[in-house]
Amino acid sequence: MSGLDWDGLRQELPAPVSELLAEGTPVVVTGCAGFIGSHLTGALLALGCEVTGVDSLTDYYDVAQKRANLAGPLASPDFCFRERDLNDLDLRMLLTGKRVCFHLAAQAGVRASWGAEFTRYLDWNVLATQRLLEACRHEDVRDDLVRVVYSSSSSVYGDQPRYPVTEDDLPMPRSPYGVSKLAAEHLCVLYGENYGVPTTSLRYFTVYGPRQRPDMAFRKFLEAALDGRPFSIYGDGAQTRDFTFVRDAVRANLLATVAPDVTEVVNIGGGSRVSLREALDVLATELAARVPGAGPEILREETARGDVRHTAADVSRAAERIGWRPAVALGDGLAAEAAWTVARRSGHDAG
Ligand code: NAD
Repeated sequence: MSGLDWDGLRQELPAPVSELLAEGTPVVVTGCAGFIGSHLTGALLALGCEVTGVDSLTDYYDVAQKRANLAGPLASPDFCFRERDLNDLDLRMLLTGKRVCFHLAAQAGVRASWGAEFTRYLDWNVLATQRLLEACRHEDVRDDLVRVVYSSSSSVYGDQPRYPVTEDDLPMPRSPYGVSKLAAEHLCVLYGENYGVPTTSLRYFTVYGPRQRPDMAFRKFLEAALDGRPFSIYGDGAQTRDFTFVRDAVRANLLATVAPDVTEVVNIGGGSRVSLREALDVLATELAARVPGAGPEILREETARGDVRHTAADVSRAAERIGWRPAVALGDGLAAEAAWTVARRSGHDAG
């Protein structure tokens, strides 16, 4: 069990989205083996779409997890997997005849984006997005393509003078990762304005839930607790985040396909702005309910370069333009992530 249930998903969608994503609709998901991309792929398959998934299975984290994420989709006759780098693929051919391209492939992670590693961020976040958008310019692609939904990030904001942030606030990224995500987002807007490529950019705020990336705090906390290792927190733990459950992020992708503006940018924040420490307390309780006595010693490390102090999203534009509101409360989402991690570790089919 992946903690996510797609039964009845179609009933949650407004008619225009449901009609676009009707059974048999051909769509592309880039980054389909990743944390969010694999859940999105599952949701699209549950809707009956024909999904072509692209993922190069980069070694940023354990490839075995990415393969496990794909186990469900690979069992579906409606899923076609291309294990390829977007920079080496004929993207025009990939996209011809497709109705929607959900573009999630990227090198994620704020802390790893300094130094020599930045070339990955440039190649996989900026260049790959530019190649994808170039392919979308071609008439044979544009004839059918209704939307490119790009996974942007709250990292584009950096530290802001006031919260919650709106999409009109000046982006001031604090990390090379944030710069790369913002550059790709700007490219989406440019290709929309100059070539009529319809794009919607979703600025996700810290996504969590089953299959969360192993470099993210909740997952690190759970794995450390189950290993009996200490867990290191960066800074004093008072930094706040607007945590977003992965099912809500997936729903945002579906709703974004019919945004009225063809160069839309919207915040996708979970509405649960709490400090990291408070969230970890809830997570510890959820874990202890499943594995009595589990809970790591918490060590403190210096704030990492590139980390922002706070994030908090004003999501009124997402509500107004794409009808999206967060639906999953933090406690429920953390329970789902704890349950998934424990099931996975105990060798059960965690999904
Ligand atoms: P992830 O690392 O689990 O998934 C990204 C996938 O993209 C990986 O499986 C990777 O192998 C693949 N990939 C990378 N470069 C590729 C390339 N050139 N060609 C083909 N495949 C490639 O990350 P995630 O957490 O699922 O994030 C998905 C998207 O959401 C990313 O664009 C990320 O920047 C964005 N995002 C995530 C969060 C979050 O909290 N998880 C927050 C803001 C934005």
